Amino acid sequence: MTENYIYLPEIIIDSHCHARDFRQSYKTTVMQTLKEAKKGLITISALMPNTDPPIISLEVLSDYSKLIVAAENELDLPRQYVWFGVVDGNLKECEEALRLPFVVGLKIYPKKKKGQSVTTGIIGVTEEETIPEAMRLVKKYGKALAIHCDDPDIILKKGYVIEAEVEYVRKIIRYAQIVPGVKIIICHVSCVESASLILWAQREHHMKIAIELCPHYLWFDSEKTNWNPNFDPVYYKCFNNLRPARHRKYLISLLKLNNRLIIIGSDNAPHTREEKMEKGLGGLPTNHEMVAVICALAKQNKIPDGRVAQLLSYNLSDILEIPVSRKTKKYRLEKMTDDIQYNNGKVLNPWNGSELLFPVKIEG
Ligand SMILES: [Zn+2]
Repeated sequence: MTENYIYLPEIIIDSHCHARDFRQSYKTTVMQTLKEAKKGLITISALMPNTDPPIISLEVLSDYSKLIVAAENELDLPRQYVWFGVVDGNLKECEEALRLPFVVGLKIYPKKKKGQSVTTGIIGVTEEETIPEAMRLVKKYGKALAIHCDDPDIILKKGYVIEAEVEYVRKIIRYAQIVPGVKIIICHVSCVESASLILWAQREHHMKIAIELCPHYLWFDSEKTNWNPNFDPVYYKCFNNLRPARHRKYLISLLKLNNRLIIIGSDNAPHTREEKMEKGLGGLPTNHEMVAVICALAKQNKIPDGRVAQLLSYNLSDILEIPVSRKTKKYRLEKMTDDIQYNNGKVLNPWNGSELLFPVKIEG
């Protein structure tokens, strides 16, 4: 590995992408999102179900699938994937969805009893029993369960604190112990405590619980590291919250581990400028930057190309059983100050101003 070059896998997979569309097509669309993913060198995206209407029935899944197929054809992309949303009472639909090859697994968002989801979405699980039942279902089909960990009761009392994330991770590990072998992805792990707990469960109990790391927790933190000072802080608001710098540094150190259960997901989650300012919604666009951030951190931290390939493709390919080529391509790394726009500028890009290493294809 030389300073200005990197070998990246032919197929890069993003475990976590919000492509909106339907009634939220004013934020972005499947077509626009996958176009941006492709520009960011992401070949395969697994799309999240907290759309409006949410993907919790086979009818909506089928409608979404049509949008995806149209984008695949237009953009010359391979098959993309979807996470099917779990709510209390739709386990029959979950099972039918899991039989479909492009459904990569189930997604759980926690939700308060008689209330709001912990994110801006409208879907979620309130009944505890639903969690182990969803685990049994995905295990039956060899698929995975992706979980947004943030405890609604703790959030109600104390806000979006670290404890809310960690207690939910602890709960998931407890349930996973009664469904041995179940494959779980803990989405957007943001703090030392959650990551340490998951590593402990992997090590001591051989549990297949993966840590999903997202570019924004590796680059930004609650101490405003790398924030663009010209932008309102709301553009750096996301769920789970950004944490203090020591958490970010710890998460970066995980990139160096030879651990097949650490993956990268963009959690690309665009909202329009107006919504951000008026409603304070949480979520950042990150499609274009995911690979550039990992390249920048790999060079800064002397992480070998082979490890980068595991993080961006092979680990997730194994967990989700998405077959990918193990070939790599050589890229030149170009240091650039980010000025990329999302959805033609409708979505303000909080990465603007960050100096990243963008891979550029070498012709010939
Ligand atoms: Zn998300």
